[in-house]
Amino acid sequence: MFTTRDGSPWEPAYLTAIDGSKCIGCGRCFKVCARDVMHLMGVNDDDELVACSGDDEDEEFVRKVMVLHQAGNCIGCGACSRVCPKACQTHVPAGALAAA
Ligand code: SF4
Ligand code: SF4
Repeated sequence: MFTTRDGSPWEPAYLTAIDGSKCIGCGRCFKVCARDVMHLMGVNDDDELVACSGDDEDEEFVRKVMVLHQAGNCIGCGACSRVCPKACQTHVPAGALAAA
């Protein structure tokens, strides 16, 4: 049982997956996350993930995509879900994860 500070019921919903086929790599989720859960990567011509340092002109990728980096850091706040324009994230309630 989780609660907010005033004792109201609150259940975290952890980020468990990002659909790379829908993600546009906009970075909005990354900006609102305080827990270093996600990481922006490049995707090259062969559909492989490659490093993405931020200097697009020097890098060899055709698009960017957000990936889970340290999933265990997630506190399930849901902020990333609220800002994602592509609904490509999967969040699972803490209770459901614990039962799995
Ligand atoms: S739910 Fe919160 S802590 Fe978890 S990845 Fe999203 S913004 Fe970060
Ligand atoms: S907000 Fe959504 S579309 Fe944008 S980078 Fe994050 S997961 Fe991808």
